[in-house]
Amino acid sequence: MTPDGQILAPNTYDAEPIPDAARSEIERLLSSGDLFRYTSEGSPVALLEAEFAELMGSRYALAVASCSAALFLSLKALDLPRGARVLIPAFTFAAVPSAVVHADMVPVLVEVGDNYRVDMVDFAAKLPGADCVLISHMRGHTSDMDAIMALCDAANIPVVEDAAHSLGTEWHGRKIGTIGKVGCFSFQSYKLVNAGEGGILITDDPEVAARCVIMSGAYESNWKKHPGMQNSYMLWQNKLPLYNMRMQNLSAAVIRPQLPEIATRVAKGRAGHDRVADRLNDCAFLTVPPALAPEDRAPDSIQFNLSGDWTDAQALKFQARAKHRGVTVQVFGLSDGNARAFWNWEFLGPAPDLPQTRAMLMRACDVRLPTRLTGDELDFIAEAVVSAAEDVMA
Ligand SMILES: *Cc1c(COP(=O)(O)O)cnc(C)c1O
Repeated sequence: MTPDGQILAPNTYDAEPIPDAARSEIERLLSSGDLFRYTSEGSPVALLEAEFAELMGSRYALAVASCSAALFLSLKALDLPRGARVLIPAFTFAAVPSAVVHADMVPVLVEVGDNYRVDMVDFAAKLPGADCVLISHMRGHTSDMDAIMALCDAANIPVVEDAAHSLGTEWHGRKIGTIGKVGCFSFQSYKLVNAGEGGILITDDPEVAARCVIMSGAYESNWKKHPGMQNSYMLWQNKLPLYNMRMQNLSAAVIRPQLPEIATRVAKGRAGHDRVADRLNDCAFLTVPPALAPEDRAPDSIQFNLSGDWTDAQALKFQARAKHRGVTVQVFGLSDGNARAFWNWEFLGPAPDLPQTRAMLMRACDVRLPTRLTGDELDFIAEAVVSAAEDVMA
């Protein structure tokens, strides 16, 4: 706020602040030097796993270095052959196809509609011949999990959920990340819980859990410090490679005091998103696609489409006008080298032909809405975006 009461452009770039409660635990860890998760029983990482499993209602949780590591370990733990084909949505972050490649598997990209969700016609067409499905709930948007699970269960194909950005999202009241065989979450700074870096996977499958624990780096008999299914661990010890993707105690100390804040952040994020969405939907040139009926969202950003006849030049001008008004808007397909545009994933070879996803990415916009923003700040953002659209199109 300026002295004359005007609201300055809000800072949407900074992450969520860390609760003060983290400080004493971090002090304790710094003075003891006890940073490795397996040094003491009941380490912060082990406590985080117990608390997260409880929160999600899953049997097992394994904290690791990142969501990408969680995705990689999940795929490895499915024990599929080298070169297995993994369906992934074509709208996701580059780290997702990267995790597939890292696991010696081949990503097969599925079309995504202009509501940012998996196109079920293309999905059903590509499912025969797939060995696994990795559903990335990109920006927290949930695809039709009823249809996906029905098709995959019928074909006996395992489903891994990339719930990196879906902590707190529900589908028919069921927590996202608990629907597939494994659910993977991120604690990278731009997610609902901020540890800089970090990830966690959850599963009810004891074999998958055991294999992930060993491969994450539970060497020798460190698996004994993970509760449950000791026989499975025995079976896999020394039979699987150790990829060493463990989480360290300082990360867990930063994450644990944020867990009780999740519910509040989800409620604030949803209210903030819907407040901005209502304003944007009033504008003739912008559309915020609705969620599918069974989904209760937990957004910390908003995505919307430039609707009607926009040229690329107009879309770029809109981005510039919004920036001038103090709000950063990114049209996914129009920012150079964007890691969420599939044609930039050059490590996969030539980009596949995905006209629907491409068209969506050329008009879909992204604005961060951290849950700490006030109502006035959210209104500032909405007004700036709408005015920018009107500057260009009206
Ligand atoms: C952030 C993100 C990832 C990667 O998470 P990291 O913890 O940074 O590896 C993967 N998928 C989605 C949808 C994400 O938003």
